[in-house]
Amino acid sequence: NAITENILREAADAFAFDRTTGEISRYGEGHINDTFVVWASDKCKRYIMQRINTDTFKNPKELMENVCHVTGFLRKAILEKGGDPERETLNVIPTKEGKPFYTDSDGGTWRAYIFVEDTVCLQKVENENDFYTVAETFGTFQNQLAAFPAATLHETIVKFHDTPTRYQNFEKAVAEDAMGRAKDVADEIAFVRSREADCHVLVDMLSKNEIPLRVTHNDTKLNNVLIDKTSKKGICVIDLDTVMPGLAAYDFGDSIRFGANDCAEDEPDQNKVHFDLHLFEVFAKGFLSTAGATMSEQEKSSLVWGAKLMTLECGMRFLTDYLEGDHYFRISRPAQNLDRARTQFTLVKGMEAAFADMMRIIQKY
Ligand code: ATP
Ligand code: MG
Ligand code: MG
Repeated sequence: NAITENILREAADAFAFDRTTGEISRYGEGHINDTFVVWASDKCKRYIMQRINTDTFKNPKELMENVCHVTGFLRKAILEKGGDPERETLNVIPTKEGKPFYTDSDGGTWRAYIFVEDTVCLQKVENENDFYTVAETFGTFQNQLAAFPAATLHETIVKFHDTPTRYQNFEKAVAEDAMGRAKDVADEIAFVRSREADCHVLVDMLSKNEIPLRVTHNDTKLNNVLIDKTSKKGICVIDLDTVMPGLAAYDFGDSIRFGANDCAEDEPDQNKVHFDLHLFEVFAKGFLSTAGATMSEQEKSSLVWGAKLMTLECGMRFLTDYLEGDHYFRISRPAQNLDRARTQFTLVKGMEAAFADMMRIIQKY
């Protein structure tokens, strides 16, 4: 639904802002939610107000319970360390009725946050330094949440990184072969099948209690970090819609999957796809500089598996979607999902070749 001036006003009136509110305008470059800035009428202060995308997030109540639980815990952790809890974590502003979100007369779901001032939000990794900043900031997030009871969070996307289940879905798509495409991708199917046992490594480590269940963010991009204008350090992790119980290896691995290369996700020419071990080291160094203190040697080595398995899993999902007829990942040309799958598999091969090096690097920090 379109957001009218009236709806905006209605939503802003619902929240317990500490000033009377004035101008409201669209803000930022997010792609999922509708983000607005609400100014106090005296222009001395502003707030973030978002309409949650309920097509993507079908259970905003559970989502906001997760957000409130995690940010409440972060506040305490930050206060204990003498930090500024209004800048170093998101802070939910409740409605006047004390609820974490508001449902408008049009059915839209809204929430509000304290605006974190004097920060920049970079859209794209331009250099190693940016990548290091992402690593360091998400490592801090992991460190601050080390004692959080992760099992109490709602699994808002069920089995999101359950790699064995993703593998089963892949086999189902091969068996059904809805589009008659399986015969043309025999090599890719064989590639995945020969790695079936790998799919279990992380979930097995968890079930044997070798690594802890943690809070994962699941969208560890540079533009989900607010960077202090002066110090240029990442200070606040935002966009907590996908926080869930999971493994440190999931966030770490996914960051490596999309960050430690310089190719397009759908690169058709596999000669242009290279896993970049140097960028892996940059990220590992940043992440472990902040998260390393709370991690056992075993959990550190699980990060390397995370890199490989998040990449394999993503490739399997692209290949599954290709076999099923491109229902999930939007395409703009035929075989785009196949190219996406191949690119992930090329990266997996690169990671396998560099596996021992990655393990050595992880031990260094
Ligand atoms: P994405 O496309 O990354 O999923 P999204 O639609 O979920 O984004 P957010 O990332 O939550 O939206 O917010 C969009 C933008 O609004 C951020 O990139 C940031 O620039 C800005 N922003 C969000 N929360 C705050 C805040 N508390 N203080 C200052 N700026 C914020
Ligand atoms: Mg975002
Ligand atoms: Mg988001």
